[in-house]
Amino acid sequence: NNLKQHFSLKKEKLFGPQQVVKAVDGVSFEIMPGETLSIVGESGCGKSTTGRSILRLDEPTSGEVLLFGKNLVTMNKKELRVARKDIQIIFQDPYASLNPRRTIRKMLTEAMSIQKIVPPEQQEARMIELMSLVGLRPEYLERYPHEFSGGQRQRIGIARALAVNPKIIICDESVSALDVSIQAQILNLLKQLQRDLDLTFLFISHDLSVVRHISDRIMVMYLGKVVEIADKQSLFTQPHHPYTKALFSSIPVIDKEHRKERIILKGDLPSPLNPPTGCSFHTRCPFATDKCKAEVPALREITATQKVACHFAENLV
Ligand code: SF4
Ligand code: MG
Repeated sequence: NNLKQHFSLKKEKLFGPQQVVKAVDGVSFEIMPGETLSIVGESGCGKSTTGRSILRLDEPTSGEVLLFGKNLVTMNKKELRVARKDIQIIFQDPYASLNPRRTIRKMLTEAMSIQKIVPPEQQEARMIELMSLVGLRPEYLERYPHEFSGGQRQRIGIARALAVNPKIIICDESVSALDVSIQAQILNLLKQLQRDLDLTFLFISHDLSVVRHISDRIMVMYLGKVVEIADKQSLFTQPHHPYTKALFSSIPVIDKEHRKERIILKGDLPSPLNPPTGCSFHTRCPFATDKCKAEVPALREITATQKVACHFAENLV
């Protein structure tokens, strides 16, 4: 499928004079048109960095992000601005990303004008359409961000992202700050918009029940690396990587057949400043051997829809 988008990132962050942290270490994945691919993992695993590096809000040190055949990583500012029409990001806290002194009208007009997508005479109609798409009344265009609830603000954040008619939207913890009932409304809105507008989502979240609701495929990260990537069904019913198993054992399962015992990981999350040798999970893995300490496991295909980075993936099911 030549429409799929390929992301392959290398990124090192500098912490102090000699300390180099690889926030994202050779992460590589593809996203299919119209799907929702989620990235999960504990905080500090590199999921946000991955999302931000794709847009170059964080600069990757190397790698490529192929968007419709063009590499975002090597683009100059002007090319990047054009490319960003196709890929937008929605953050966790809509309030922090909305300018308090601008009305919604002003904000949406700006978004449309920067990208010169909607000619001025059509902007009014487009704004009303955007408001209706996200379930807000058109008279709200004249209001300021502080006049809205958290859920409404996130709807405004979505409207602003949609203003430029993107194909891909990165949602970075986009519902994490909301109450559970509001979360469900926003997730349903995102799904509806995906169907109606043929959107592709890269959904970053630490919340597995949210991820279960929204995803087609899921990518699990640990200390800056992808440890497993699979379709949702396989990952929830038959995770292969010991870290995925532990992570997913913490969520309640309604279906008795798939209920698993909670696995508590020993030890703390190692510092990304000094990640363990070999398999970076070996300090906490109940199955670790000498090979694990010495050799980095490659991300390998286990089935047609599941890839795992563990030397013993086949034996641990
Ligand atoms: Fe555990 Fe070894 Fe597999 Fe890493 S490679 S997850 S340490 S068994
Ligand atoms: Mg984050």
